Amino acid sequence: MDAPGNNIVAFAGSLGLTPSGELFVGRRGGFPVGLKVVDPHGAVLLLFQVRHWLLGNAPQLKSLAYEGEVSDLLATKKIEIEFDDRIAWVTMIDLGQTFTSERVGALLDPILKVFGAAGLIGDPELCHYCQKEKVDDLISADGKVAQICPTCLAERDKKLKANTAPAASEAVPIALMTPAAALVGAFLWAACWSLYSKLTEPLDGETVFVPRILLAVAMVLIGLTVGGPVGWLIKQNRRRGGAVSAAAAILFSLLGVFVGEILHLVWLIYREFHVVSFSGAVHVMPDYYLGSGGFFLGMKVFAVVMAVVLAYGIAKPPKATLEL
Ligand SMILES: [Zn+2]
Repeated sequence: MDAPGNNIVAFAGSLGLTPSGELFVGRRGGFPVGLKVVDPHGAVLLLFQVRHWLLGNAPQLKSLAYEGEVSDLLATKKIEIEFDDRIAWVTMIDLGQTFTSERVGALLDPILKVFGAAGLIGDPELCHYCQKEKVDDLISADGKVAQICPTCLAERDKKLKANTAPAASEAVPIALMTPAAALVGAFLWAACWSLYSKLTEPLDGETVFVPRILLAVAMVLIGLTVGGPVGWLIKQNRRRGGAVSAAAAILFSLLGVFVGEILHLVWLIYREFHVVSFSGAVHVMPDYYLGSGGFFLGMKVFAVVMAVVLAYGIAKPPKATLEL
C-alpha cells in the first residue's frame, strides 16, 4: 500500500530497493535497478534505470513488444522507455491515486520480463563490464546504479583520474596566451561602448528612450565581447586545470574590461579634442564614473559581471565522470 508521498523509503523498500546516494537501488527480475523519485508529494515522477549489457543502438532494443496495461500507458506517455548504452530509462509519470508500490511493481515487472526475454542481460550474477566476475553488491556513482567487480571499477577509476587534470594544469600556456584574448575583448568592449554613447546621445535635444529589456540584452552581449574571447582562449587548453581556468577567466576578463574602458575614454577624448592620450584617459577615469548617472553605472557593472560569468562559464573544464 506504500505510496511515494507517504514514505518514500518504505515505498522503495517494498519494491526491493534501498537508499544509496541519491538513488534507491536493488535487483529486480535479475536486473540492477535504480530509482529516483521526483516530486513525491506532487505530480510524482518515477525515474527507473535498468542496467543491461547492450549498447544503445543494439538491434535487440529496436523490436521490443510490450503487452496489456504497459502498452496502453506507453501509448498515452504515462510510461516512457528509452535506451542508452548499458542503461534503460523507464519513466512513470502521474499514475494518479493508485501510485502504490504494488501497482508500480506490477508495471515494472512485465517490462523487465520483456527485457530479459530479449536477451538484454546474460548471467544476472556477473559483473556487467568483464562479464566474468560474480558481483554481490550494487554500487551507485554519478547518479547511476552499477553492477561492477572491484577490478573493473579500479580500472575505470584509474581512467577517471587520468582524465582529470590537476587544478594548476596548463597554467603557463594559459597565462601567456590569454592576455591576447583580453586585448581583443578590450577593443570590442570599447567599440561597443563608443557605439552605445553615439546611439544614446540626445538628437536635437531629444532624449533617447531604450526599453530596459533591450538594454539588459545589450549588456549581456557587451559582456560577451570580453568574456567570449577570454573564455574561448582558455578553453583551447585541453588539459586545463579547474583552479587555473577559474582564476584566469576572472583575472583576464577584468583586465580586458579595464583596458576596454581606457580605450573607450581615449575615443571620447579624441572626439572632443582630437588628441590621442592614454594618460589623459587614465586621468579622467575617476571623474568620468563620478559624473555618470547611477543607472548607467549599474548597467556597466552588470556588463562587467556578465563578462566574468561568461568567461568562467566557457573556460570551466568539464567534470570528468566515472564511465559506467
Ligand atoms: Zn568486472
